[in-house]
Amino acid sequence: MKIAVIGTGYVGLVTGTCLAETGNNVTCVDIVAEKVEKMKNGVMPIYEPGLDILFNRNIEQGRLNFTTDLAAAIKDAVIIFLALPTPPGGDGKADLSYVLGAAKDIANLVDNYKVIVTKSTVPVGTADKVKAVFSENTLVEVDVVSNPEFLREGVAVEDFMKPDRVVVGTSSEKARALMGELYAPYVRSGNPIIFMDERSSELTKYAANSFLATKITFMNEVANLCELVGADVDMVRKGIGSDARIGKRFLFPGIGYGGSCFPKDVQALALSSEEYNYDFKILKSVMEVNETQKVKIVEKMDQYYKSDLKGKKIALWGLAFKPETDDIREAPALYIIDELTKAGAEVVAYDPEAMPNVKRLVGDKIGFSENAYDALKDADALVIATEWPLFRNPDYNLMETNLKAKVIFDGRNLYDLQKMIDLGFYYNSIGRKIIEA
Ligand code: NAD
Repeated sequence: MKIAVIGTGYVGLVTGTCLAETGNNVTCVDIVAEKVEKMKNGVMPIYEPGLDILFNRNIEQGRLNFTTDLAAAIKDAVIIFLALPTPPGGDGKADLSYVLGAAKDIANLVDNYKVIVTKSTVPVGTADKVKAVFSENTLVEVDVVSNPEFLREGVAVEDFMKPDRVVVGTSSEKARALMGELYAPYVRSGNPIIFMDERSSELTKYAANSFLATKITFMNEVANLCELVGADVDMVRKGIGSDARIGKRFLFPGIGYGGSCFPKDVQALALSSEEYNYDFKILKSVMEVNETQKVKIVEKMDQYYKSDLKGKKIALWGLAFKPETDDIREAPALYIIDELTKAGAEVVAYDPEAMPNVKRLVGDKIGFSENAYDALKDADALVIATEWPLFRNPDYNLMETNLKAKVIFDGRNLYDLQKMIDLGFYYNSIGRKIIEA
Protein backbone atom coordinates (compact mmCIF):
# COMPACT_ATOMS: atom_id res chain seq x y z
CA MET A 1 0.00 0.00 0.00
CA LYS A 2 1.07 3.59 -0.51
CA ILE A 3 1.19 5.39 2.81
CA ALA A 4 2.01 8.92 3.94
CA VAL A 5 3.03 9.68 7.52
CA ILE A 6 2.87 13.32 8.60
CA GLY A 7 5.29 14.09 11.44
CA THR A 8 8.52 12.14 11.96
CA GLY A 9 8.96 12.19 15.73
CA TYR A 10 9.12 9.17 18.02
CA VAL A 11 5.73 7.93 16.78
CA GLY A 12 5.81 9.00 13.12
CA LEU A 13 9.30 7.70 12.38
CA VAL A 14 8.65 4.35 14.04
CA THR A 15 5.25 4.04 12.32
CA GLY A 16 6.64 4.93 8.90
CA THR A 17 9.67 2.65 9.21
CA CYS A 18 7.73 -0.33 10.57
CA LEU A 19 5.04 0.05 7.88
CA ALA A 20 7.76 0.05 5.20
CA GLU A 21 9.25 -3.08 6.77
CA THR A 22 6.19 -5.14 5.76
CA GLY A 23 6.41 -4.02 2.13
CA ASN A 24 4.40 -0.82 2.07
CA ASN A 25 5.66 2.21 0.21
CA VAL A 26 5.93 4.97 2.82
CA THR A 27 6.63 8.67 2.47
CA CYS A 28 7.25 10.55 5.70
CA VAL A 29 6.68 14.30 5.86
CA ASP A 30 8.10 16.80 8.32
CA ILE A 31 8.19 20.58 8.35
CA VAL A 32 11.74 20.69 9.69
CA ALA A 33 13.79 20.70 6.48
CA GLU A 34 17.10 20.03 8.23
CA LYS A 35 15.68 16.91 9.87
CA VAL A 36 14.28 15.67 6.55
CA GLU A 37 17.63 16.21 4.86
CA LYS A 38 19.39 14.18 7.56
CA MET A 39 16.91 11.32 7.26
CA LYS A 40 17.28 11.28 3.49
CA ASN A 41 20.97 10.71 4.14
CA GLY A 42 20.27 7.83 6.50
CA VAL A 43 20.78 9.79 9.73
CA MET A 44 18.19 9.05 12.42
CA PRO A 45 17.02 12.14 14.33
CA ILE A 46 16.21 10.19 17.52
CA TYR A 47 17.71 7.38 19.56
CA GLU A 48 15.47 4.33 19.49
CA PRO A 49 17.06 0.88 19.90
CA GLY A 50 16.78 -1.35 16.82
CA LEU A 51 15.13 1.29 14.65
CA ASP A 52 18.32 2.12 12.72
CA ILE A 53 18.53 -1.32 11.11
CA LEU A 54 14.97 -1.15 9.75
CA PHE A 55 15.36 2.53 8.88
CA ASN A 56 18.49 1.99 6.75
CA ARG A 57 17.23 -1.20 5.14
CA ASN A 58 13.95 0.36 4.00
CA ILE A 59 15.63 3.53 2.73
CA GLU A 60 18.12 1.42 0.74
CA GLN A 61 15.34 -0.70 -0.70
CA GLY A 62 13.39 2.40 -1.70
CA ARG A 63 10.29 1.82 0.42
CA LEU A 64 10.95 4.60 2.94
CA ASN A 65 11.21 8.20 1.74
CA PHE A 66 11.33 11.59 3.37
CA THR A 67 10.14 14.97 2.16
CA THR A 68 8.89 18.38 3.22
CA ASP A 69 6.51 18.39 0.27
CA LEU A 70 3.09 17.44 1.63
CA ALA A 71 1.37 17.52 -1.77
CA ALA A 72 3.85 15.08 -3.31
CA ALA A 73 3.70 12.77 -0.29
CA ILE A 74 -0.07 12.40 -0.22
CA LYS A 75 -0.69 12.37 -3.97
CA ASP A 76 -0.80 8.59 -4.40
CA ALA A 77 -1.19 7.61 -0.75
CA VAL A 78 -4.28 5.61 0.19
CA ILE A 79 -3.78 6.03 3.92
CA ILE A 80 -2.42 9.19 5.55
CA PHE A 81 -1.25 8.98 9.16
CA LEU A 82 -1.16 12.11 11.31
CA ALA A 83 1.62 11.58 13.88
CA LEU A 84 1.76 15.18 15.02
CA PRO A 85 2.35 16.71 18.45
CA THR A 86 -0.61 17.32 20.76
CA PRO A 87 1.15 19.23 23.56
CA PRO A 88 -0.73 20.88 26.40
CA GLY A 89 -2.10 24.24 25.28
CA GLY A 90 -2.22 27.33 27.48
CA ASP A 91 -5.33 25.93 29.21
CA GLY A 92 -3.64 22.54 29.82
CA LYS A 93 -5.93 20.78 27.33
CA ALA A 94 -4.48 19.04 24.28
CA ASP A 95 -3.49 21.60 21.63
CA LEU A 96 -5.08 20.32 18.42
CA SER A 97 -3.68 23.03 16.16
CA TYR A 98 -1.04 20.74 14.60
CA VAL A 99 -3.57 18.00 13.83
CA LEU A 100 -6.33 20.29 12.57
CA GLY A 101 -3.86 22.49 10.69
CA ALA A 102 -2.41 19.50 8.84
CA ALA A 103 -5.95 18.21 8.18
CA LYS A 104 -6.80 21.53 6.54
CA ASP A 105 -3.63 21.49 4.43
CA ILE A 106 -4.42 17.95 3.28
CA ALA A 107 -8.08 18.80 2.61
CA ASN A 108 -6.93 21.57 0.25
CA LEU A 109 -4.74 19.12 -1.67
CA VAL A 110 -6.70 15.85 -1.96
CA ASP A 111 -8.19 14.84 -5.28
CA ASN A 112 -9.17 11.23 -4.59
CA TYR A 113 -10.37 8.99 -1.73
CA LYS A 114 -8.12 8.79 1.32
CA VAL A 115 -8.22 7.33 4.79
CA ILE A 116 -7.03 9.97 7.25
CA VAL A 117 -5.71 8.29 10.40
CA THR A 118 -5.12 10.12 13.66
CA LYS A 119 -2.16 8.41 15.37
CA SER A 120 -1.58 11.32 17.72
CA THR A 121 -3.17 11.11 21.16
CA VAL A 122 -6.29 13.28 20.83
CA PRO A 123 -9.33 14.01 22.99
CA VAL A 124 -12.73 12.49 22.39
CA GLY A 125 -14.47 14.27 19.53
CA THR A 126 -11.32 15.00 17.51
CA ALA A 127 -12.30 12.63 14.68
CA ASP A 128 -15.50 14.67 14.31
CA LYS A 129 -13.45 17.88 14.22
CA VAL A 130 -11.14 16.44 11.55
CA LYS A 131 -14.18 15.30 9.53
CA ALA A 132 -15.60 18.83 9.78
CA VAL A 133 -12.33 20.31 8.49
CA PHE A 134 -12.55 18.07 5.42
CA SER A 135 -16.23 18.71 4.73
CA GLU A 136 -15.60 22.48 5.00
CA ASN A 137 -12.62 22.42 2.61
CA THR A 138 -13.17 19.70 0.00
CA LEU A 139 -15.85 17.74 -1.80
CA VAL A 140 -13.55 14.73 -2.13
CA GLU A 141 -14.66 11.69 -0.07
CA VAL A 142 -12.39 10.81 2.87
CA ASP A 143 -12.77 8.58 5.91
CA VAL A 144 -11.35 9.70 9.23
CA VAL A 145 -10.06 6.96 11.52
CA SER A 146 -8.79 7.03 15.10
CA ASN A 147 -5.83 4.67 15.55
CA PRO A 148 -4.06 5.60 18.78
CA GLU A 149 -0.47 4.47 19.23
CA PHE A 150 0.58 2.47 22.30
CA LEU A 151 4.31 2.09 21.61
CA ARG A 152 6.77 2.70 24.41
CA GLU A 153 9.94 4.64 23.66
CA GLY A 154 12.94 2.35 24.15
CA VAL A 155 11.06 -0.72 22.86
CA ALA A 156 9.07 1.04 20.17
CA VAL A 157 10.05 -1.23 17.29
CA GLU A 158 8.99 -4.37 19.13
CA ASP A 159 5.80 -2.68 20.29
CA PHE A 160 4.91 -1.65 16.75
CA MET A 161 5.89 -4.92 15.09
CA LYS A 162 4.20 -7.10 17.74
CA PRO A 163 1.54 -4.98 19.42
CA ASP A 164 -0.55 -6.29 22.32
CA ARG A 165 -3.49 -4.93 20.36
CA VAL A 166 -4.27 -2.49 17.60
CA VAL A 167 -7.19 -0.16 18.27
CA VAL A 168 -9.04 1.19 15.24
CA GLY A 169 -11.96 3.56 15.65
CA THR A 170 -14.04 3.97 12.52
CA SER A 171 -17.62 3.95 11.32
CA SER A 172 -16.65 3.23 7.69
CA GLU A 173 -16.58 -0.32 6.31
CA LYS A 174 -14.17 0.73 3.57
CA ALA A 175 -11.68 2.24 6.04
CA ARG A 176 -12.06 -0.75 8.35
CA ALA A 177 -11.11 -3.15 5.54
CA LEU A 178 -8.05 -1.08 4.56
CA MET A 179 -6.86 -0.76 8.15
CA GLY A 180 -7.39 -4.48 8.70
CA GLU A 181 -5.30 -5.28 5.63
CA LEU A 182 -2.53 -2.88 6.65
CA TYR A 183 -2.20 -4.23 10.19
CA ALA A 184 -2.68 -7.96 9.41
CA PRO A 185 1.11 -8.67 9.27
CA TYR A 186 1.55 -7.28 12.79
CA VAL A 187 -1.07 -9.44 14.51
CA ARG A 188 -0.26 -12.84 13.05
CA SER A 189 0.35 -14.32 16.50
CA GLY A 190 -3.28 -13.71 17.36
CA ASN A 191 -3.27 -10.42 19.22
CA PRO A 192 -6.41 -8.54 18.25
CA ILE A 193 -7.22 -5.60 16.03
CA ILE A 194 -10.04 -4.14 18.06
CA PHE A 195 -12.46 -2.20 15.90
CA MET A 196 -14.71 0.28 17.63
CA ASP A 197 -16.29 3.69 17.16
CA GLU A 198 -14.04 6.76 16.96
CA ARG A 199 -14.94 8.18 20.40
CA SER A 200 -14.28 4.91 22.23
CA SER A 201 -10.97 4.61 20.42
CA GLU A 202 -9.92 8.14 21.36
CA LEU A 203 -10.84 7.56 24.99
CA THR A 204 -9.09 4.16 25.07
CA LYS A 205 -5.70 5.83 24.65
CA TYR A 206 -6.24 8.38 27.44
CA ALA A 207 -7.72 5.73 29.71
CA ALA A 208 -4.73 3.42 29.14
CA ASN A 209 -2.12 6.08 29.91
CA SER A 210 -4.06 7.46 32.86
CA PHE A 211 -4.50 3.98 34.31
CA LEU A 212 -0.76 3.29 34.03
CA ALA A 213 0.12 6.67 35.58
CA THR A 214 -2.31 5.86 38.40
CA LYS A 215 -0.69 2.46 38.97
CA ILE A 216 2.77 4.06 39.24
CA THR A 217 1.44 6.76 41.53
CA PHE A 218 -0.32 4.26 43.76
CA MET A 219 2.97 2.44 44.25
CA ASN A 220 4.77 5.70 44.94
CA GLU A 221 2.28 6.40 47.71
CA VAL A 222 2.73 2.87 49.08
CA ALA A 223 6.50 3.51 49.03
CA ASN A 224 6.10 6.78 50.90
CA LEU A 225 4.03 4.99 53.53
CA CYS A 226 6.61 2.18 53.73
CA GLU A 227 9.22 4.75 54.74
CA LEU A 228 7.01 5.97 57.57
CA VAL A 229 5.94 2.60 58.95
CA GLY A 230 9.24 0.77 58.48
CA ALA A 231 8.07 -1.59 55.71
CA ASP A 232 10.03 -2.48 52.56
CA VAL A 233 8.29 -1.56 49.31
CA ASP A 234 10.16 -4.28 47.41
CA MET A 235 8.55 -6.90 49.62
CA VAL A 236 5.13 -5.27 49.36
CA ARG A 237 5.53 -5.05 45.57
CA LYS A 238 6.30 -8.74 45.30
CA GLY A 239 3.55 -9.58 47.72
CA ILE A 240 0.85 -7.81 45.75
CA GLY A 241 2.27 -8.36 42.25
CA SER A 242 1.96 -12.13 42.45
CA ASP A 243 -1.81 -11.68 42.58
CA ALA A 244 -2.80 -12.16 38.93
CA ARG A 245 -5.52 -9.51 39.30
CA ILE A 246 -2.83 -6.93 40.09
CA GLY A 247 0.07 -8.21 37.97
CA LYS A 248 3.82 -7.74 38.40
CA ARG A 249 4.36 -4.94 35.91
CA PHE A 250 4.33 -1.20 36.57
CA LEU A 251 4.67 -1.68 40.32
CA PHE A 252 8.12 -0.17 40.72
CA PRO A 253 8.16 2.99 42.84
CA GLY A 254 10.45 5.86 41.95
CA ILE A 255 10.70 9.60 41.48
CA GLY A 256 7.44 10.08 39.61
CA TYR A 257 6.36 9.48 36.05
CA GLY A 258 7.59 11.78 33.29
CA GLY A 259 7.95 11.70 29.53
CA SER A 260 6.02 13.29 26.73
CA CYS A 261 2.84 11.28 27.33
CA PHE A 262 1.73 10.44 30.88
CA PRO A 263 1.88 13.98 32.36
CA LYS A 264 0.08 15.62 29.44
CA ASP A 265 -2.42 12.81 28.91
CA VAL A 266 -3.50 12.56 32.55
CA GLN A 267 -3.95 16.34 32.60
CA ALA A 268 -5.82 16.38 29.29
CA LEU A 269 -8.22 13.64 30.40
CA ALA A 270 -8.91 15.39 33.70
CA LEU A 271 -9.57 18.68 31.93
CA SER A 272 -11.61 17.26 29.09
CA SER A 273 -13.78 15.44 31.66
CA GLU A 274 -14.58 18.84 33.14
CA GLU A 275 -15.98 19.91 29.78
CA TYR A 276 -18.61 17.23 30.31
CA ASN A 277 -19.12 18.37 33.93
CA TYR A 278 -17.39 15.26 35.20
CA ASP A 279 -14.97 15.61 38.08
CA PHE A 280 -12.37 12.85 37.49
CA LYS A 281 -11.12 13.02 41.09
CA ILE A 282 -8.57 10.22 41.01
CA LEU A 283 -6.64 11.89 38.17
CA LYS A 284 -6.36 15.11 40.15
CA SER A 285 -4.79 13.20 43.04
CA VAL A 286 -2.46 11.37 40.65
CA MET A 287 -1.17 14.70 39.29
CA GLU A 288 -0.80 16.17 42.78
CA VAL A 289 1.14 13.17 44.13
CA ASN A 290 3.39 13.07 41.06
CA GLU A 291 4.36 16.73 41.50
CA THR A 292 5.73 16.07 44.98
CA GLN A 293 7.24 12.69 44.09
CA LYS A 294 9.41 14.28 41.37
CA VAL A 295 11.39 16.24 43.91
CA LYS A 296 11.14 13.86 46.85
CA ILE A 297 14.74 12.79 46.43
CA VAL A 298 15.87 16.42 46.81
CA GLU A 299 13.85 16.66 50.03
CA LYS A 300 15.71 13.59 51.28
CA MET A 301 19.02 15.27 50.39
CA ASP A 302 17.95 18.48 52.04
CA GLN A 303 17.29 16.59 55.25
CA TYR A 304 20.59 14.74 55.05
CA TYR A 305 22.55 17.95 54.51
CA LYS A 306 20.45 19.82 57.10
CA SER A 307 19.16 22.32 54.52
CA ASP A 308 22.68 23.18 53.43
CA LEU A 309 23.17 21.94 49.89
CA LYS A 310 25.10 25.08 48.95
CA GLY A 311 28.48 24.25 47.43
CA LYS A 312 27.84 20.49 47.49
CA LYS A 313 28.99 18.68 44.38
CA ILE A 314 26.35 16.20 43.26
CA ALA A 315 26.84 13.54 40.59
CA LEU A 316 23.66 12.75 38.68
CA TRP A 317 23.32 9.43 36.87
CA GLY A 318 20.52 9.46 34.30
CA LEU A 319 18.76 12.34 32.55
CA ALA A 320 16.30 10.68 30.15
CA PHE A 321 12.80 10.20 31.51
CA LYS A 322 13.39 6.46 31.28
CA PRO A 323 16.14 4.14 30.04
CA GLU A 324 16.83 3.37 26.36
CA THR A 325 15.70 6.74 25.07
CA ASP A 326 17.16 10.22 24.56
CA ASP A 327 13.77 11.80 25.31
CA ILE A 328 13.93 14.28 28.20
CA ARG A 329 10.43 15.72 27.98
CA GLU A 330 9.11 16.06 31.58
CA ALA A 331 12.04 13.98 32.84
CA PRO A 332 12.19 13.92 36.67
CA ALA A 333 15.97 14.58 36.36
CA LEU A 334 15.20 18.08 35.05
CA TYR A 335 13.22 18.89 38.18
CA ILE A 336 16.01 17.51 40.35
CA ILE A 337 18.55 19.69 38.49
CA ASP A 338 16.35 22.72 39.04
CA GLU A 339 15.94 22.12 42.76
CA LEU A 340 19.59 21.28 43.38
CA THR A 341 20.96 24.26 41.48
CA LYS A 342 18.44 26.55 43.17
CA ALA A 343 19.78 25.30 46.51
CA GLY A 344 23.32 26.21 45.38
CA ALA A 345 24.60 22.70 44.62
CA GLU A 346 26.91 21.97 41.71
CA VAL A 347 25.60 19.17 39.48
CA VAL A 348 27.66 16.97 37.16
CA ALA A 349 25.57 14.61 35.07
CA TYR A 350 26.07 11.53 32.98
CA ASP A 351 23.55 9.83 30.68
CA PRO A 352 24.38 7.43 27.84
CA GLU A 353 22.04 9.10 25.30
CA ALA A 354 20.27 12.17 26.64
CA MET A 355 23.15 14.57 27.38
CA PRO A 356 22.98 16.50 24.07
CA ASN A 357 19.27 17.21 24.59
CA VAL A 358 19.82 18.40 28.17
CA LYS A 359 22.83 20.51 27.14
CA ARG A 360 20.62 22.28 24.61
CA LEU A 361 18.05 22.93 27.32
CA VAL A 362 20.13 23.96 30.34
CA GLY A 363 23.42 25.08 28.79
CA ASP A 364 26.20 25.37 31.34
CA LYS A 365 23.89 25.40 34.36
CA ILE A 366 25.31 21.93 35.10
CA GLY A 367 28.42 20.00 34.07
CA PHE A 368 28.43 16.89 31.91
CA SER A 369 30.76 13.97 32.11
CA GLU A 370 32.08 11.69 29.37
CA ASN A 371 31.46 8.60 31.45
CA ALA A 372 29.58 7.57 34.55
CA TYR A 373 32.61 7.29 36.84
CA ASP A 374 34.18 10.63 35.92
CA ALA A 375 30.97 12.30 37.07
CA LEU A 376 31.61 10.90 40.55
CA LYS A 377 35.04 12.53 40.97
CA ASP A 378 35.08 14.53 44.22
CA ALA A 379 31.30 14.45 44.44
CA ASP A 380 29.64 14.66 47.84
CA ALA A 381 26.90 12.29 46.68
CA LEU A 382 25.52 10.34 43.76
CA VAL A 383 21.88 10.73 42.75
CA ILE A 384 20.33 8.14 40.41
CA ALA A 385 17.43 9.41 38.33
CA THR A 386 17.17 6.92 35.42
CA GLU A 387 17.50 3.15 35.62
CA TRP A 388 19.85 2.62 32.66
CA PRO A 389 21.03 -1.04 32.70
CA LEU A 390 24.60 0.30 32.85
CA PHE A 391 24.04 1.58 36.40
CA ARG A 392 22.64 -1.68 37.74
CA ASN A 393 25.90 -3.49 38.30
CA PRO A 394 28.51 -0.76 38.74
CA ASP A 395 32.16 -1.00 39.71
CA TYR A 396 31.66 -0.29 43.40
CA ASN A 397 35.39 0.04 44.00
CA LEU A 398 35.69 2.79 41.41
CA MET A 399 32.60 4.45 42.82
CA GLU A 400 34.19 4.47 46.25
CA THR A 401 37.52 5.77 44.91
CA ASN A 402 35.97 8.61 42.92
CA LEU A 403 33.29 9.82 45.31
CA LYS A 404 34.40 12.20 48.05
CA ALA A 405 31.77 10.70 50.34
CA LYS A 406 30.15 7.27 50.04
CA VAL A 407 26.63 8.66 49.76
CA ILE A 408 23.95 7.52 47.29
CA PHE A 409 20.41 8.80 46.83
CA ASP A 410 18.77 6.29 44.54
CA GLY A 411 15.48 7.30 42.91
CA ARG A 412 15.19 3.96 41.13
CA ASN A 413 16.00 1.38 43.83
CA LEU A 414 18.81 -0.19 41.82
CA TYR A 415 20.90 -1.66 44.61
CA ASP A 416 20.51 -4.40 47.15
CA LEU A 417 20.30 -3.09 50.70
CA GLN A 418 22.56 -5.79 52.15
CA LYS A 419 25.19 -4.99 49.50
CA MET A 420 25.12 -1.34 50.54
CA ILE A 421 25.51 -2.32 54.20
CA ASP A 422 28.45 -4.59 53.32
CA LEU A 423 30.13 -1.84 51.28
CA GLY A 424 29.55 0.78 53.96
CA PHE A 425 27.63 3.28 51.84
CA TYR A 426 25.04 5.72 53.12
CA TYR A 427 22.17 4.65 50.86
CA ASN A 428 18.78 6.33 50.68
CA SER A 429 16.29 4.87 48.19
CA ILE A 430 12.51 4.90 47.72
CA GLY A 431 10.23 3.09 50.16
CA ARG A 432 13.06 1.15 51.80
CA LYS A 433 15.12 1.40 54.96
CA ILE A 434 17.85 4.06 54.92
CA ILE A 435 21.28 2.43 55.17
CA GLU A 436 23.53 4.51 57.37
CA ALA A 437 27.23 4.39 56.55
P1 NAD B 1 7.38 14.46 18.41
O1 NAD B 1 7.34 15.82 18.97
O2 NAD B 1 8.53 13.56 18.70
O3 NAD B 1 7.22 14.52 16.81
C1 NAD B 1 6.34 15.33 16.13
C2 NAD B 1 6.92 15.64 14.75
O4 NAD B 1 5.94 16.34 13.97
C3 NAD B 1 8.17 16.52 14.78
O5 NAD B 1 9.19 15.94 14.00
C4 NAD B 1 7.68 17.84 14.15
O6 NAD B 1 8.71 18.52 13.46
C5 NAD B 1 6.61 17.34 13.21
N1 NAD B 1 5.63 18.33 12.76
C6 NAD B 1 5.03 19.32 13.47
N2 NAD B 1 4.14 19.97 12.68
C7 NAD B 1 4.16 19.38 11.47
C8 NAD B 1 3.47 19.59 10.25
N3 NAD B 1 2.56 20.53 10.12
N4 NAD B 1 3.77 18.79 9.20
C9 NAD B 1 4.70 17.82 9.30
N5 NAD B 1 5.38 17.57 10.44
C10 NAD B 1 5.13 18.34 11.51
O7 NAD B 1 6.02 13.76 18.91
P2 NAD B 1 5.79 12.22 19.25
O8 NAD B 1 6.42 11.88 20.55
O9 NAD B 1 6.09 11.41 18.05
O10 NAD B 1 4.21 12.23 19.49
C11 NAD B 1 3.28 12.43 18.46
C12 NAD B 1 1.90 12.08 18.98
O11 NAD B 1 1.85 10.71 19.35
C13 NAD B 1 1.48 12.87 20.22
O12 NAD B 1 0.09 13.09 20.17
C14 NAD B 1 1.79 11.91 21.35
O13 NAD B 1 0.99 12.12 22.48
C15 NAD B 1 1.47 10.57 20.72
N6 NAD B 1 2.19 9.42 21.29
C16 NAD B 1 3.51 9.53 21.63
C17 NAD B 1 4.18 8.42 22.11
C18 NAD B 1 5.62 8.50 22.53
O14 NAD B 1 6.10 7.60 23.21
N7 NAD B 1 6.35 9.53 22.12
C19 NAD B 1 3.51 7.19 22.26
C20 NAD B 1 2.17 7.12 21.88
C21 NAD B 1 1.51 8.24 21.39
